[in-house]
Amino acid sequence: MTDVLAATVSSTAADAAASDAHIATPLTDARSQLAEAIALLGYDNGLHQMLATPRRELSVAVPLRLDSGESRLYLGYRVQHNFSRGPAKGGLRYAPNVNLDEVRALAMWMTWKCALLDVPYGGAKGGLAIDPREHSTAELERVTRRYTSEILPIIGPERDIPAPDIGTDEQTMAWIMDTYSVNMGYTVPGIVTGKPISLGGSQGRASATSRGVTHIALAALRHVGLEPSRSTAAVQGFGKVGADAARFLSEAGVRVTAVSDQYGAISNDAGLDIEALSAHVRATGSVVGFAGGEPLDGAALLTHDVDLLVPAAVEGVLHEGNAADVQATVVVEGANGPTTPAADRIMRERGILVVPDILANAGGVIVSYFEWVQANQAYWWRADEVESRLEERMLSAWQCVLGYAEQRDLSLRTAATALAVERVAEAHKLRGLYP
Ligand code: NAD
Repeated sequence: MTDVLAATVSSTAADAAASDAHIATPLTDARSQLAEAIALLGYDNGLHQMLATPRRELSVAVPLRLDSGESRLYLGYRVQHNFSRGPAKGGLRYAPNVNLDEVRALAMWMTWKCALLDVPYGGAKGGLAIDPREHSTAELERVTRRYTSEILPIIGPERDIPAPDIGTDEQTMAWIMDTYSVNMGYTVPGIVTGKPISLGGSQGRASATSRGVTHIALAALRHVGLEPSRSTAAVQGFGKVGADAARFLSEAGVRVTAVSDQYGAISNDAGLDIEALSAHVRATGSVVGFAGGEPLDGAALLTHDVDLLVPAAVEGVLHEGNAADVQATVVVEGANGPTTPAADRIMRERGILVVPDILANAGGVIVSYFEWVQANQAYWWRADEVESRLEERMLSAWQCVLGYAEQRDLSLRTAATALAVERVAEAHKLRGLYP
């Protein structure tokens, strides 16, 4: 069910269900977070509408010739939410249920994330409604090159710079860079970030999001009076973000007692051996069946008895139906949009500290920015320079959001969103409205 018809049907069904039952979708969540910030800042309706609406979006049909000789068609998107503060920036997601509204929400969150961390970018996101696990490397290369050709007119190192997200990686970025460069007639390393180091990628980019999540998680645990070396954690998602976050947390002394992926979950109250688990995942493709843990229900991971919960998979997993059962004291959002506004309210009432995505997982875009700076200067930094600059930026944003929230008695999410929206609005006002 991953071709164009199936994608259309599932997205239409999801939209219909959402509007019937007023179920939160990533876009309704993102818009409701924005509305709260706008009300707090007292901005007018015109500015609100502008910030709620992407500046530019492109939908493309992407045909793929399979290895068998048959062909398939997939739907793809690139949404540029805002470029008041600089070129648009955001990841590219390959997943069967990708749809335009999800990409719009993810692009809006990128705008706030870049503004909050004060990197000179606007926000964008791309998506292709494809299940990469169903395709060979040759097929993924062809579909990536064709998708890149389709969105070529709106991307560029000074326009919009893609990066990896769910289902894409540094190899995907290398194909995008090559396709773009061949079309331009010269090599353009700054067109993507998250490239392989041998093609101009930055030291530390691959693990940057997870390092940032860990810096914030350790600061948040200490803030609520928990010593990391005596704390426990559960991590949902064991991909690019979750696996390294589990590793760094465990290296910092946190006992990671439960981990999940889309196939299931495992737990071990004595602490999972993350190195051994990673080897198991490399060999089998899933955390399921790991000998060093007991099987756990995937949904139960979110309500596992731990101090720290790190959702690092997909949107909307913490919702009205399970927020009352979350046992963690601190939730640090490795994923984008894992918590619905209803769950946010419930957890705030219960005294759970939720560190929002636009702060917690910003390590990736910070080092993407470092990579873009290095690529444009053709001058490369050492890994320790990248890591110390990343830590400094993450912790200074944490202090800034915490101070803003405490002064005004706001949740960290509302504080972070308001700070970011204020910066974007200021840039917009200074530039003025053309014509
Ligand atoms: P990935 O594809 O590398 O890994 C995703 C992981 O989540 C996989 O282990 C998958 O099995 C698991 N998963 C999927 N659905 C699940 C479910 N319902 N329950 C439990 N596990 C599930 O993707 P990633 O790059 O690690 O991205 C994860 C999240 O982090 C996404 O929300 C992404 O937007 C966000 N993010 C990624 C980056 C980055 O640099 N890669 C940066 C910022 C934010």
